[in-house]
Amino acid sequence: MFSSLRWKLTKAYTIWFLLTFTAILLILFFVFRSILFSIESKELQDLLENEKAAYTDGSVVQEQPYSYYTSFFIPESGKIKIFKKEERLTPAFLHYSKNARKNLEMADLQSADGKKLHVIYGKIPIIENGKKKGELFVVKDISHVHEQTERWFFILFLIGLITGSVSLLIGSKLAGRAIEPVKENYERQKKFVSDASHELRTPLSIFSASLQVMEEEEKERLSPFSAEVLKDLKDEMKHMNSLITNLLTLAKSDSDSISIEKAVFSFSEMTSSVIHQYQMKEKGLRKFRLEGPDDDPCMAETDKTRVKELLYIFLDNAVKYTAKDGEITLRYEPDHRSKHLVIHIIDNGIGISEEDMPFIYDRFFRAEKGRSKKLGGSGLGLSIASGLLHSLDGKIDVNSTPGNGTDFTISLPVLI
Ligand code: ADP
Repeated sequence: MFSSLRWKLTKAYTIWFLLTFTAILLILFFVFRSILFSIESKELQDLLENEKAAYTDGSVVQEQPYSYYTSFFIPESGKIKIFKKEERLTPAFLHYSKNARKNLEMADLQSADGKKLHVIYGKIPIIENGKKKGELFVVKDISHVHEQTERWFFILFLIGLITGSVSLLIGSKLAGRAIEPVKENYERQKKFVSDASHELRTPLSIFSASLQVMEEEEKERLSPFSAEVLKDLKDEMKHMNSLITNLLTLAKSDSDSISIEKAVFSFSEMTSSVIHQYQMKEKGLRKFRLEGPDDDPCMAETDKTRVKELLYIFLDNAVKYTAKDGEITLRYEPDHRSKHLVIHIIDNGIGISEEDMPFIYDRFFRAEKGRSKKLGGSGLGLSIASGLLHSLDGKIDVNSTPGNGTDFTISLPVLI
């Protein structure tokens, strides 16, 4: 239970870290890109202005401090005029220029020798006498800056991965530390419940034995009122005994120390004997039916005693919450392909309301306290059943209609 909590906390810490880191990295990337774009575009604007001035007065372009650029003029019709030629850049961009829609943009190109080029380009229309003559282009190779940026982000990404792994380890340690006090508290409480139950058992059995002796010795001399009180005492004693046994089982299931002793047995035979016991006990008050395949012994390998305990919990409840002359069915369906045994415990009793349904597995939950007290429930049966099912790797489902009855479905992976 605590290891799964620890794992969940670690996962939460790490996911939180990775998400924050990725967000920071993305923000950095876009901020860096826009800074780069604004620096580069400023340089490009200078180049464009110079080239335009040179084009319009026919002068020679002054030597620029910027390297790796190309500039050319694409007329509306006629021959392309190249002013400054950069070997790798010019043919690649000339090929691309028809796609160049924006006035200023970064673009990815491929040079003739297959190299990837990252460029920034700018274009300006040349208008003479109110008529567009063509477009002047300046393209600058910024591959080296781009590569540097990519390299840095890759390094940052690697650092992020390493930090992520370290944070997974640290997160696991922190989570372990965070749950330590809760765990200790829980362990103390569990030990208290278990010790208290053990300690209470001895005085209770002495009480029980004393009541038995008193009843036998003083039977004749007891007034009707005292006899009634004695009977109530015995009932309460029985209730307390079962409560203590249940608390002990729960304490064991909390510490995952319910022992499972596997053995091979026939589920069909076991259920026949269980149903027979109930039929004898109920003496026809309620009808019991057993439904399963006739020709299949349903050989199972699991802890027979635990499976029986499970059936007793559901059958006891079915008896408790079904009126006299009601009907209780134990149906089992083997699925040999998946090796699962599906068991239904169906009654036509009072059913469970929709509001109560989410709580029926909670400890000490009883739908109607008064009614259950009369029937002798303590609200621990179904929580014990879920603990047992957990130990047996089983699953449970319930369908119920108030006033019509309940169908508890258990699935156990036990067939051989
Ligand atoms: P209890 O000892 O009160 O029966 P359980 O944990 O076994 O405690 O059951 C919890 C509650 O679920 C019961 O109080 C009852 O309201 C409801 N419940 C369980 N089984 C049935 C059933 N077969 N029919 C109707 N209600 C049921």
